[in-house]
Amino acid sequence: MAFTNPLLRQQAFINGQWLSADSGATHAIDNPATGEIIAQVPDMGASETAQAIAAAERALPAWRALPAKSRSQILKRWFDLIISHQEDLAQLMTAEQGKPLAESRGEVAYGASFIEWFAEEGKRAYGDVIPGPTPDRRLIALKQPIGVTAAITPWNFPIAMITRKVAPALAVGCTSVVKPAEATPLCALALAYLAQQAGLPDGVFNVITTAHAASVGDVLTQSPVVRKLSFTGSTAVGKKLMAACADTVKRVSLELGGNAPFIVLEDADLDAAVQGALASKYRNAGQTCVCANRFLVHDSIYDAFAAKLQAAVAKFVVGDGTDEHTTIGPLINAAAVDKVERLVNDSIAAGATLAMGGARHARGGNFYQPTVLLEVDNAMPIAQQESFGPVAPLIRVRDADHAVALANATQAGLAAYLYGRDLKQIWSVAERLEYGMVGINEGIISNEMAPFGGVKESGLGREGSKYGLDEYLETQYLCLGGM
Ligand code: ADP
Repeated sequence: MAFTNPLLRQQAFINGQWLSADSGATHAIDNPATGEIIAQVPDMGASETAQAIAAAERALPAWRALPAKSRSQILKRWFDLIISHQEDLAQLMTAEQGKPLAESRGEVAYGASFIEWFAEEGKRAYGDVIPGPTPDRRLIALKQPIGVTAAITPWNFPIAMITRKVAPALAVGCTSVVKPAEATPLCALALAYLAQQAGLPDGVFNVITTAHAASVGDVLTQSPVVRKLSFTGSTAVGKKLMAACADTVKRVSLELGGNAPFIVLEDADLDAAVQGALASKYRNAGQTCVCANRFLVHDSIYDAFAAKLQAAVAKFVVGDGTDEHTTIGPLINAAAVDKVERLVNDSIAAGATLAMGGARHARGGNFYQPTVLLEVDNAMPIAQQESFGPVAPLIRVRDADHAVALANATQAGLAAYLYGRDLKQIWSVAERLEYGMVGINEGIISNEMAPFGGVKESGLGREGSKYGLDEYLETQYLCLGGM
C-alpha cells in the first residue's frame, strides 16, 4: 500500500514556493524498517541553493524590522500547528527514520518546544548601556540579528535538529536556508508546510532537498550573503564545513560526534543506573550523539551492574517502529549496520566477552540485536569511535580517578553520565570531566531550557536555553559622543 500522510510533501520549499529541481531529478526516500520507497524528493543543486539564499536575503529586511513580539506570534502559531499535527508528524518520522512511534511523538514535542522557547526568548535579546570613559560619551551595546543563516542537519532527529537552529534564528530576525539530511527530508518539508500555514513570510525559511550534499554545502559555505552556518552531524564533515567557512569568515556552530562515557561509581543506585543506561544508550537504537558509548563501571559493582543491565536489555522488543510494542527500531541504513557489526566483531576478536546480542537481528534488513559486551578495554575501537548502534560496552575501572582518566582519553567532549551517591565525589568527578554536558543520576538531559553543546572536537556553540540566542546575534557597539 502506498504511504499516505496529509503532511507528505514531495517538493522543496524556496521563497514560499513548492519547487522541483531545475533538472527534474529526484531521489527516493525509503523506510528503513521495510525498504519500501515512501516518497521522491527533488535532487537540488547549486542553482536552487543560490535561489534560496537570494530569497532569504530579500526576506531579511522586513523580517528583522518586525517587532520581536510580532515574530514571536508567528512562531507560536507554528508551534501550535506542530503540536496539533503531532500524530501525523510522528508517523512521517517513523516512516522515514525508523524510530519507534513513541519516540517520534516525543521528538515532535521536543522539537516544537524550541519554537515555543525561542518565541519567548527572542523578545529578550537585551543589549547594555555601558558607563563611558569620559563625561561626554554614552556607550551602548545593541544585539543585532546576524543576517541570512544556513543549517545543515542530520537524520537522527529529523525535526528537533532543525527547530533547535531555526527557531532562535527566526526569533531574533534572521532568515534561514536549511538542508536536511538526504535520508530524512520529509519532516523538514512538513515543518515548512506548517510554517507557511502559520503565516511565516515567503523566503524567511527555505528547505532544499538534495542527494548531493556537498554541492549544496559548497554554495552555502562560499556565499558571502550567508553569515552563519549551523551544522549538526559527523565530526569529519563538521571540520570540512568549518574550513570552508573560513573564506567568508562566517560564524559557525557545530554539534559533532560524541563518545559519551557512562560512569557508575561504587556507591551508585544500580537500579537507577540501569534505567539511565537504557534511556541513554538504547534510545533511537543508539543513534544519538549523546548516547552512552561506553560504560566505565567500578570493579566492586561491575558484575552486579552487568547482570541487571542484561536482564533489562532482554526486555527490549525489536521491530518496525509503527508497531506500538516496538522499543528498538531499525538502524538508518545498511552502512550503519555494517559499522556496528564490524565494531562488535573486532571487540570480540580483541578479547571482549559477548554477554548478549552481538549479531544482526533475525528480522534481517537494518535490524541489529541489542547487545552487551563485557571486559571491554577503553583502547578498543568500540570505545574510541561512536558506535551509533544498540551496543553497550562495559569497561572495568578501579576508582573514580581511573574513570575520569579514561572518560577524558578521547577527542570528543559532548555528553557524559555519572551515577553515584556521595555528593563530594560526584562534584569532584563532574568538574573534571571534559564534557559540555554531564547527566548526574540522569540519563536524559536534553531539553529546550538547557544549553546543549560540546567541547574539544565535539563542537562549538550552544543550542537551546538563553545561550542559544547568542549564536544568532551580533553585538554592535554604539558610541554616542558630544553629549
Ligand atoms: P551522519 O554520519 O550522521 O550521516 P553526516 O555528517 O554525514 O553525518 O551528515 C550530516 C549532514 O551533513 C547531512 O545533512 C548530510 O547531508 C550533510 N553533509 C554530508 N557531507 C556534506 C558535505 N560535504 N557538505 C555539506 N553537507 C554535507
